[in-house]
Formats: sequence, structure tokens, C-alpha cells
Amino acid sequence: MCGIFAVSGHKEAAKLTYLGLYALQHRGEESAGIVSFNGKKISCQKKMGLVADAFDQQSLRSLEGECAIGHVRYSTTGSPSSLNIQPFSACHKKGNISVAHNGNLTNINILHSKMEDKGTIFQTSTDSEIIAHLIAKPGRNNIKAKVKHALSQLEGSFSLAVMIDQLIVAARDPSGFRPLCLGKLDQAYVLASETCALDLIGAKYIRDVGAGEILFIKEGKIESVKLNKKSKSASCIFEYIYFSRPDSNIFNRNVYLARRRLGEELAREYKPDCDFVMPIPDSGNCAALGYASQAKLPYQTAIIRNHYIGRTFIQPSQLMRDFRVRVKLNPVKEVLAGKKVLIIEDSIVRGTTTRAKIKTLRQAGAKEIHMGVSCPPIKFPCFYGIDFPTKSELIAANKEVEEIRNFIGSDSLHYLSLEGMLSAMREAEFDFCAACFTGGYPVEIPNNFNKIMLERGG
Ligand code: SF4
Repeated sequence: MCGIFAVSGHKEAAKLTYLGLYALQHRGEESAGIVSFNGKKISCQKKMGLVADAFDQQSLRSLEGECAIGHVRYSTTGSPSSLNIQPFSACHKKGNISVAHNGNLTNINILHSKMEDKGTIFQTSTDSEIIAHLIAKPGRNNIKAKVKHALSQLEGSFSLAVMIDQLIVAARDPSGFRPLCLGKLDQAYVLASETCALDLIGAKYIRDVGAGEILFIKEGKIESVKLNKKSKSASCIFEYIYFSRPDSNIFNRNVYLARRRLGEELAREYKPDCDFVMPIPDSGNCAALGYASQAKLPYQTAIIRNHYIGRTFIQPSQLMRDFRVRVKLNPVKEVLAGKKVLIIEDSIVRGTTTRAKIKTLRQAGAKEIHMGVSCPPIKFPCFYGIDFPTKSELIAANKEVEEIRNFIGSDSLHYLSLEGMLSAMREAEFDFCAACFTGGYPVEIPNNFNKIMLERGG
């Protein structure tokens, strides 16, 4: 859960990166950072918090140069500390290396320990620092060969933007877990986790960076190189269900339309007797629209979301979690009173937030509350960059559907089947990772990886 953005060859590189990160804010609210290069030296601004709070006019002015990379972070690997804010930067005789990473390296401990044995000292606990060290390792003279060799040692998921002086490098792991696209603004090249960031700055989408592809971008020229490793395509299906913005196209497909299709599939499987369909805003909106149109039922927005909730309320304690729901979502009593309602939710993780939402709807007077979920039960943790809790905290890993229904307090509950979910994606050109639903991890996970992630603070 991170967002990356980069610009090569534009005199407003840092300002564009700032705007790009603004559009990618949903991918990480913990910290934001930008590093730029002005032909002689790098400048760097990084801060904990939201993009709007991390930069001001003065800090953006200090980010000089025509090349920049930026990052918004939600910690997966590496504890939430200011030391771990990306991009990570280091000086090397081949140039200044800065790395912005989205994903999770599954062989992080092996790489870490090998390097420490050779005397490497680490400043942070992030994957990005490892990548910078691997690029800087002696052995190859050509910087592109160094990058290729470094990236070929990584296992797991990575979508990357790397800046080595004027050279901007973009890369995706051979399975293509996380999205990354290439765009153009005037003569400048732009990279972004999602196309919504290209839209904001008026850049034209060119194409996705391919799975297992490395792009070297410098002075208006692009060179594409393939990593030698082959792997089955495994783009993260959860990006469509919940994570990406609906106005983005990822993996060559629009997220809004994909979510609608998930809702339509759900309507084919589950038809409780109800007066209207409503989403849990905002992530359930598109699936609820798809459901309503397929089931020919009225659609109501019977919960209104307060959009002005900052990070302040995202606290781990249960009391604060319930409070967050109440502050964030307010039901419209006049619409709900005495009605049989069907709520469409994008997913259920722990179940506690869903339970709080249902309680709020009952208090608002709903007579019956049915719940349709536009994905199958999440039974397994994600090791490729989405911050799900451990198996013991995932409600569907420990309870049957009827027990979950009882826990959340709905009158009925239906999860979209795995077949239904995959059928909604049937026109996709890629195979998807669905490991959090099936347990079939496409890239091997070390036995103790869960423990490793926890120890590293992810
Ligand atoms: S395990 Fe789930 S969340 Fe993680 S990459 Fe696979 S589909 Fe996405």
C-alpha cells in the first residue's frame, strides 16, 4: 500500500510530482516524500503525514531540477517512523541513488543478512534501502547492468521508481503484482502507480510498465529491458476490489467498470427481499450501482460520508475504531426508517468496522439489513504489499459465513463467489493473484515471513 510518481525532463518536475502524489494519497497516508535532481545535486523533502501537510511553497521551491521521484507510504515492511519515509536516497560514485518502492520483498531477510555479513550498515528497515544497496554494489561498471542485476535478486512484489542523477528507472516484478504506468506531458515522461495521477497533471497515458520490465528514461529517450526471470502473471485483484481509485485504469482496465461488474455478478448470486440497495461509501459505491442495475432495484445513498476526516482518527484501539465509523459515516434516518435494506460492502477484513456500521443503520430505524460483499471471504494474509492483518485477526479465516453474519449483526450475508469474482474480470488480459481468498500464493513465501514482517514493524 504505497503510491509512486516520477517525472523525467520537465522544469516543474517537483511540483508535478507533488500533484501526482496528491492524486495517489489513498495509497498511503502515513508519510510523503519527494527527491529531485538539478543536474548537480539532489534535494529532498520528506515528512510524516498527508501530502498537503508534508510540503509547502518553500519546500517545493527548494526541490530544483527537471527530474523528480515521489512516494506516499502506508507501512507494510518497516516500522512507521520518519527514518522510513521514502524515497530512500544514498550517494554513490555512479551518482545519487533514490528509490521509491511499492510492494513487499519476500526475500528481504536473506538479502539483509547477506549484506550485513559483508559489513553493510542499514539506516532504515525498508525494502527500498536494500534496493539502493544492491544497485550500488561493486562488480559491474555500466549503471544499467547494475540496476538489472540488482532487480533480478529481488523476490516478491515491487513496482519501482529509481532516480540515479538524471536517469529515471521504472520497474515491475515479473508477476506484475502492483500497477505502474507510463505517461507523457509535453516532452517529459511521467510514471505513476495509477492513471488518476496522470489525469490530474494533464499527462497522456502511454502504456503500463510491463511485468518484469525495466524502463531507463533519460533526456527524452526510453530504453526497455526485460528481467531474465519469468513468472506467471499475478496482478493483484484486490486493487480492483478496494484499493485503487475508481477513476484509474490499472492493468489496462478501468477500476470503476470492474467494480460495477463485481456488483452485477453479486446480483446474479444473491437476491434477498429488500426495498433498496445502498453502498457503504465510498468503496462500495460502484459495486452497489452494478448490483442495483442488474437486480433492477432502487439505489439509495442512505449513509453520508464525512470526507473531512484526517489521519488523527486512525488509531489501533477498538474504541477509536468504532468512533471513527460514527464520525465518518452518518445514516439518513428518513430514508432508512422501516425499510428492508441491502448494503453492498467491498470487503470484510476484521468485521468490527462492518459490525459498527450495521449497528448504526439499526439505530437509524432500518427494519431488515442484508449484506452483500463484492469479493469472497478474505481468509489469508497478503505478503505482496497490502496491509491485511495476520490470519488470527481476519474474521473469515476463523469463522464460517453464518458465524460472521451473527457477529456483524446482519439479517443475511452473502460473499461473491470466487468464480463470480473471476467471471467479472473475464475480459482481462492478465491472470490475477487471488491468494488472500484462496491461499494459493503465486510467489513462494518463506515459512516465518509473517513473523519477519511483524518484527520489522510492517
Ligand atoms: S494476496 Fe490478495 S491483496 Fe495480496 S496481492 Fe494477492 S490478491 Fe492482492
